[in-house]
Amino acid sequence: MIVNKPLVRKHTHEVIVGWNGHEVKVGGGNPVVVQSMTNTDTADALNTALQVKALYLAGSEVVRITVNNEEAAKAVPYIREQLDKMRIPVPLVGDFHYNGHLLLQKFPDCARSLSKYRINPGNVGSARSRDDNYASMIEMAIQHDKPVRIGVNWGSLDQSLLARMMDENAQLADPLPPEQLMYQALIESALSSAYKAIELGLPENKILLSCKVSQVQDLIAVYRELSKRSPFPLHLGLTEAGMGSKGIVASTAALAVLLQEGIGDTIRISLTPEPNGDRTKEVIVAQEILQSMGLRAFTPQVIACPGCGRTTSTVFQELAQQIQNYLRDQMPVWKNQFSGVEEMKVAVMGCVVNGPGESKHADIGISLPGTGEAPSAPVFLDGKRVTTLKGERIAEEFQAIVQRYVEQRYVKVSH
Ligand code: SF4
Repeated sequence: MIVNKPLVRKHTHEVIVGWNGHEVKVGGGNPVVVQSMTNTDTADALNTALQVKALYLAGSEVVRITVNNEEAAKAVPYIREQLDKMRIPVPLVGDFHYNGHLLLQKFPDCARSLSKYRINPGNVGSARSRDDNYASMIEMAIQHDKPVRIGVNWGSLDQSLLARMMDENAQLADPLPPEQLMYQALIESALSSAYKAIELGLPENKILLSCKVSQVQDLIAVYRELSKRSPFPLHLGLTEAGMGSKGIVASTAALAVLLQEGIGDTIRISLTPEPNGDRTKEVIVAQEILQSMGLRAFTPQVIACPGCGRTTSTVFQELAQQIQNYLRDQMPVWKNQFSGVEEMKVAVMGCVVNGPGESKHADIGISLPGTGEAPSAPVFLDGKRVTTLKGERIAEEFQAIVQRYVEQRYVKVSH
């Protein structure tokens, strides 16, 4: 028998990010959270607030901003204020490197306005000051009652820890190969930093971990081991994933394997944007990974055939694109009005070979005419053929059918 085994999530602590009424729960079996990061200059408060808004409206449940200097730290409370005025209740995470201990102390409004601090233990200072600086950041998190993500990154691994581990490794009768030592050093850095934070007084349920690397197989190996040893929620992401399809494919390949094994409580897709590209792409990709794996539902799915020699025109490609855009544009409205609409499946198929069959399996389906077929497009609702569309306005008429279907099929949300 072929069994589709339900996915079992690894147990982790629940960490709450945000404030009363706007908490985002990460870990503890809660749905995998989508997060993103801005690429504006944080000191430019207005443009940063606008990009945070765009990311939130695209579906980002937590947004990270870099806090790299005093101007950025001063801007953070204004960014929060602008977001509150625009009614964008998304928690902000401050990304700190090198000077976080100074900025959090000098700018308490910044420390208060952020909902989480990201600390990179490899980037908190020189060998002499590292422990003090790290302790200072943890003390600020305790004082302001904020969770932290201890985010280790291969590119900025704590060099003194690595040197010590290399020395110890060299003494072993059977030393670990360099790749294994790198994995162990990443995990050791994250876990030892987490337990140090607990020693300093930060509660266990205020800590999340990440160990990011840029190669798919390395990421899978590191997180499998980290997950075995960590009770803390894990933030997944392939760092420096790259541009375009390469970044999307590499991130999906790595995250899909881990998520399928129940590993990961929040994800971020680190895509390098195309020049003038849309930053919200990383949010859409994160949602699509989770939705295609059946872990969450965000927006109605369009099942479109790839097309072949039977579809020599671009009619069905254009219609599939229009329907996908229409559904995505409608979702912000629908999700406030109709419960469960994000689960809807819409099939847009290119010809009679698979069109009627696939359309019947979807909630709504349309089978367009292939080359040489009669110029008509049967429409199916809940598996039954209800009408046939013809002429120039197939897209508009089909969208009207989708709208009516949503209104009749899904329960109205009462506010
Ligand atoms: S449904 Fe028709 S057009 Fe689409 S891929 Fe299959 S045979 Fe080709």
